[in-house]
Amino acid sequence: MLMLDKLHILADSAKYDASCASSGSSRNVRGKLGKASVGGVCHSWSSDGRCVSLLKILMTNACIYDCAYCLNRRSNDIPRAMLSPDEICELTVEFYRKNYIEGLFLSTGIVKNADYTMELLIQTARKLRKEHNFSGYLHIKLIPGASEELIDILGRYADRVSVNIELPSQQSLSILAPDKKLDAILTPMKQVKESIDTYKAEKKTLRRAPLFSPAGQSTQLIVGATPESDMQILVLSSWLYKKVAMKRVYYSAYIPVNNDKNLPALPTPPLLREHRLYQADWLLRFYDFEPDELLSPANPNLATEVDPKTAWALAHLDRFPVEVNVADYNTLLRVPGIGVQSARRIIRSRKVKRLRYEDLNKLRVVLKRARYFITVHGRYHGDMACDEQLLFKRLATGFGSNVNSSLIQLDLFDSLFSDRHSVITGEL
Ligand code: SF4
Repeated sequence: MLMLDKLHILADSAKYDASCASSGSSRNVRGKLGKASVGGVCHSWSSDGRCVSLLKILMTNACIYDCAYCLNRRSNDIPRAMLSPDEICELTVEFYRKNYIEGLFLSTGIVKNADYTMELLIQTARKLRKEHNFSGYLHIKLIPGASEELIDILGRYADRVSVNIELPSQQSLSILAPDKKLDAILTPMKQVKESIDTYKAEKKTLRRAPLFSPAGQSTQLIVGATPESDMQILVLSSWLYKKVAMKRVYYSAYIPVNNDKNLPALPTPPLLREHRLYQADWLLRFYDFEPDELLSPANPNLATEVDPKTAWALAHLDRFPVEVNVADYNTLLRVPGIGVQSARRIIRSRKVKRLRYEDLNKLRVVLKRARYFITVHGRYHGDMACDEQLLFKRLATGFGSNVNSSLIQLDLFDSLFSDRHSVITGEL
């Protein structure tokens, strides 16, 4: 089979893996080929919204496992291909030299067993780093169940590693991915965290401390293939951020690619749910929210009509409006329309003057939301009372009973979902 044909098959097979964004690498680039800057490798987006900035391929789409949701499962009759470590190196270096890519995102199906597959990934990474002197970004998948030694070796070559958790519970894994065990997925995550901690500690005393996955680890969770609620998903994500120092959890709306009696019949991927989970995830990571502040056993799923921060504020109207000239940073951060950057700007600006309502726009406060939750010099600037029902109607993004949200493709600048600033910065 020609390399181009293999590439076509393996790049197509990799497109369902969303965990490929890159950032935070600090690999030494002097005298070497390629550079993954601290600010991250450039990204672009495919038509289905996935990141394609790196050469994103599978080493092979021939897999011995049979996960019900996966196109590459062994029971599917699809064209199969496999690239050798040398072929992957050749493609990566060639594409890099042509300026097509900034690095490589390499995932794979399982060949023979976990250790054998890891050894092939290690060979590829070693050749790229040692033989081709490649210092570009490498994001490589770890194979659950592989030996500690192999995980340790691969982590030394990669900028970022990831183990996909895929489904939020052991129960769901048992039904849809019977070859996988939650423990075998969490164990390498814990090992990676410990190795990164060791690397960071050594770096303080040793100038040439050996790198270990300097851009951390990430994972992917499929949303909508199993019955778990948003609350269960966010509790798991919160655990991953706190206990294994996960850099990112990528949520991937379930895309039906197989017919399987254990899979739900969804007309389209639940993209709006994915979008709300990303917003809630942002609140966990940067706004000090806990999952049980956003959701409860009685109300376990995020609202589709308003973003999670607005939903929280509407449920806690007794705490609003807050006076922007006196509220502390954490209180400001809870105001819909005031993000991390704008809260910092408000605190800084207040040191030199008392803020007027007109100043808030310049500080990038999103007044179309914030004005219902603040006062400036004691004056409320909303055009309606601070009432939960009224505000819900005003701030809802249009997904009422007569709109089928699952049929709407997210648009980068669609005002139905968010304002432009929020989309670009992620701030809420
Ligand atoms: S392990 Fe499961 S999800 Fe991964 S490639 Fe194989 S069948 Fe697909």
